[in-house]
Amino acid sequence: MLDKRNFYIDGEWVKPLEPNDLEVVNPATEQPIAVISMGTAADIDRAVGAAKKAFQTFSQTSVDERLALLEKLLAIYKRRYDEVATTITLELGAPITMSTQQQADVGVGHLQGFIDALKNLHMREELPNGDLLVREPIGVCGLITPWNWPINQIALKVIPALATGSTCVLKPSEFTPLNAMLYAEMIDEAGFPAGTFNLVNGDGATVGAALSRHRDVDMMSFTGSTRAGIAVSKDAAETVKRVTLELGGKSPNIVFEDADLEDRVAGSVLECFNNSGQSCDAPTRMLVQRSVYDRAVKIAEETGKQARVGNPEEEGEHIGPLVSHVQYGRVQDLIEAGIAEGARVVVGGAGKPEGYETGYFVRPTIFADVSNTMRIAREEVFGPVLALIPFDTEEEAIAIANDTPYGLAAYVQTGDAKRAERVAARLKAGMVHINGGPHRYGSPFGGYKQSGNGREGGRFGLEDFLEVKTIHRP
Ligand code: NAD
Repeated sequence: MLDKRNFYIDGEWVKPLEPNDLEVVNPATEQPIAVISMGTAADIDRAVGAAKKAFQTFSQTSVDERLALLEKLLAIYKRRYDEVATTITLELGAPITMSTQQQADVGVGHLQGFIDALKNLHMREELPNGDLLVREPIGVCGLITPWNWPINQIALKVIPALATGSTCVLKPSEFTPLNAMLYAEMIDEAGFPAGTFNLVNGDGATVGAALSRHRDVDMMSFTGSTRAGIAVSKDAAETVKRVTLELGGKSPNIVFEDADLEDRVAGSVLECFNNSGQSCDAPTRMLVQRSVYDRAVKIAEETGKQARVGNPEEEGEHIGPLVSHVQYGRVQDLIEAGIAEGARVVVGGAGKPEGYETGYFVRPTIFADVSNTMRIAREEVFGPVLALIPFDTEEEAIAIANDTPYGLAAYVQTGDAKRAERVAARLKAGMVHINGGPHRYGSPFGGYKQSGNGREGGRFGLEDFLEVKTIHRP
């Protein structure tokens, strides 16, 4: 078992101030793979102190100096790429093919996206009225990340903080801390000055709250559940710090009768099941026009039946287990709620897939005849569970799509380009995907309503970490 009990503070791996061990578990085997420490408010205090001190000088570095550090980090990341993928497979349970092609790839894509954006960012700007606008790093940033796309969220927060000349303290998810510690090793090797990046492990209620409340933290960037995002906002309010949030989703996927049905329904099912359904922007509510509804249910059924769970360490297109026992319980509860509320099970159902008694595996599940008032249509399941809802008119589809507290992503499938644009304009979501259009590195990622505020990635992701100063000249 790996001993990963130290934290990275002020450029060194240091012991926690009080020992408090936690085992990291492999979700496919339910066996411990490493031991980490759960920190305290005192560890956060130490890390924030280091970040505050480092900010004095790091904030004065030039864009070129920081670009050179980021280029070094990119080269190191590429060299250690396979380690990132195997670590994510081990602690998250993502199958190795998926870890290699998707989970680890984001570390390269986002870093390159930020490098490109930083090269084009104007830190000084003459306004037409004669005033001078200066962009400055915000200060010490508290970064809290979830377990589902671990390197994705780390990259989307750590890189813009450092790229803009801020310093930071990262608290990764206690379920997937190992890839964060690997990332810390890479930052160390790249030569970022001591104190610019710090890592403290721990739970949300203790370490996360201590970070959000800390008076020397200038900004909190949080990704996780809406529940915890609200807690971070409340904790940060006392010191009036900036808070950016990337939260949950219940993204609608509108399938019109003129869509390429075979391709778009099958593709959408696979997208919903990707990463075992543990993606905040997954298309989990498929709204289908009634004239093609029965055909769409049939295509979804055929695709869903072919979805297999399997050993994450084996190459292939199968899906892995959920991350934890807690997550397994939540998903079972919602599958049972769907059945109890009268939705029709087309594929899967409650319980474990045959032959997978060990590990947090669930059956990929598709419900048809779902009403938008049912729990499976309103709550984020965060498992491979898809809900199909019929609709009659474009107007009704838009109304159902927007009838959710969330507003992260939305999806539109149609052969009519004008309709795609018209509908996209009326969807209350931060990102609209048309006919399978993917998210591209460098484009802003984030949501409306209770899916959060702020945008991550590229230029918008950098701007969230900058203060704006106006110089009024005579
Ligand atoms: P979570 O909210 O339980 O935990 C996320 C992080 O917040 C963890 O590091 C956790 O320790 C910490 N945390 C928990 N309570 C806290 C508190 N009171 N104060 C400070 N920190 C606290 O979420 P999770 O289960 O790890 O992740 C799944 C959730 O994340 C889903 O809701 C998903 O939609 C969301 N998510 C959103 C995005 C996005 O970009 N919008 C991306 C990925 C995941």
